Amino acid sequence: MTLHIPFDNSFARLPEGFAAHVAPEPVQAPELLVFNLALAEELGLRIGAEEELAQVFSGNHPPEGASPLAQIYAGHQFGHFNPQLGDGRAILLGEVVNAAGRFDIQLKGSGRTPFSRSGDGRAWLGPVLREYVVSEAMHAMGLPTTRALAAVATGETVYRETALPGAVLTRVARSHLRVGTFQIFAARRQLEHLQTLFDYAVARHDPDADNPLDFLRGVIARQADLVARWMSVGFIHGVMNTDNCTISGETIDYGPCAFMDRYDPHTVFSSIDRQGRYAYANQPDIIVWNMAQLATSLVPLMPDSEAAIEQFTEAVHAMPGLIRARWLHHFGRKIGLTEATPDDARLITDLLQIMADHDADFTNTFRALSANAARDQFTDPAAFDAWEVQWRARLAQETAPQDLMRQTNPARIPRNHRIEQMIEAAVAGDLAPFKRMMDALSAPYETDPRFDDLTRPPLETEIVQATFCGT
Ligand code: AMP
Ligand code: MG
Repeated sequence: MTLHIPFDNSFARLPEGFAAHVAPEPVQAPELLVFNLALAEELGLRIGAEEELAQVFSGNHPPEGASPLAQIYAGHQFGHFNPQLGDGRAILLGEVVNAAGRFDIQLKGSGRTPFSRSGDGRAWLGPVLREYVVSEAMHAMGLPTTRALAAVATGETVYRETALPGAVLTRVARSHLRVGTFQIFAARRQLEHLQTLFDYAVARHDPDADNPLDFLRGVIARQADLVARWMSVGFIHGVMNTDNCTISGETIDYGPCAFMDRYDPHTVFSSIDRQGRYAYANQPDIIVWNMAQLATSLVPLMPDSEAAIEQFTEAVHAMPGLIRARWLHHFGRKIGLTEATPDDARLITDLLQIMADHDADFTNTFRALSANAARDQFTDPAAFDAWEVQWRARLAQETAPQDLMRQTNPARIPRNHRIEQMIEAAVAGDLAPFKRMMDALSAPYETDPRFDDLTRPPLETEIVQATFCGT
């Protein structure tokens, strides 16, 4: 049996100007590190031998039916507009369609493209495994995200201040369309391309949208829910630039992302985020800002710009309310409320305040609520008592809050210090910690004593102070 991918490449069929049709650059000695068989099956792939998978998912042999290309886009990076970005180290192989929809299959770290600028087009093992673990963990927790299909070691050395082993990740996404994909054509006043992109995006993500306003509202709704979900698991994306913000509403581009241990709304991990623009608590504001950039890019599609600006502004201004509603929904469930009402918001924010004041671990505190063990999570356990009385009074109106909490509060997240330890081992040739993490994170809502060590917050000496794009 040989590998077969049933490609149907709609993006490659778009007119000139959306992509550079270039092939991945071959690598020296590809070796398959991990392959996501369950995902491959969902996508309808027929799998070949390991050697063949290594050749295909390193980019050495694009499979039959692939139409390799690098997409162009622009984007605001830390608030500053960069008129020309694009896939500098990624190649879209093509798309497959299954019962759940259409999915991109993309290689990341596959060599230079016309959009590489000064970059080498490569990735090293660390970020590849980090994205593999975190994106699959996000999926297992039920968050919209790109997926990881394969990781291949290249047998080549990549230089990032020091010499590191190279790797290629295969990523699967509902599409790689970004806010920045719209921005590039709007900024260049390429209105025909902008219209073509809009029609393409509507067909792929919002088939019911009749006009740019409907479409904008669709993206806003998806992103509002996504960011509320990020908040609900203590996730910090780290680089919410508009080129890392999808139209599909999936989490994309796991660079310096990390999960919080101790609850502190000001937490920032990314080494390049010196102002804390993308701190945990800023994410809801930033996503609104990003949607305003999308709205601005859509204005040229409207016959009457003034009316469009008014309607779009209203849609963007409605977004903070939407995020609050989704936040309330997700956090309400975390404390056992099937459908929290605005009157319940105070109960949630009070708990978060006590957690912040008394150094509580975000994940473990919520998980412990369902086991009646949360009190021990606070440096001053007595601080929890008054809140608990109010909470129990409110819970009396719920039928199965314990079950709900167990289904919404993960027992395990990919903690940053564990990721660092896992990468260190992998660089030394030991993939066992990676495989164990994948195993532990595949069923995050099940209590499993085998993985108790992975629930422990970092010791003082293990705390990771900064994460790096490190691409
Ligand atoms: P990011 O912030 O990781 O989303 O990357 C921003 C831009 O830089 C994207 O257009 C990437 O394709 C490009 N880029 C990042 N790393 C590299 C690299 N090693 N080689 C070429 N381009 C890169
Ligand atoms: Mg990016």
